[in-house]
Amino acid sequence: MKVKVNRDSCIGCGACAAICDEVFEIDDEGLSITKKEVVEEDKKQEVQDAADSCPTGAIEVE
Ligand code: SF4
Repeated sequence: MKVKVNRDSCIGCGACAAICDEVFEIDDEGLSITKKEVVEEDKKQEVQDAADSCPTGAIEVE
């Protein structure tokens, strides 16, 4: 699974980092960044949950 954050859509709510802090963090600009682009098998569900929870649909997974 690959993941990325569309920072133009991110509002910095922090939900993704709260759900999966191994993959998402809020940076100095107050927006989410991904710590890794490719997600291990055991983190897929958390990343999918984070994407589903994002209020602006800023998290893309494939
Ligand atoms: S859940 Fe969405 S809007 Fe909130 S910080 Fe994460 S990417 Fe940004």
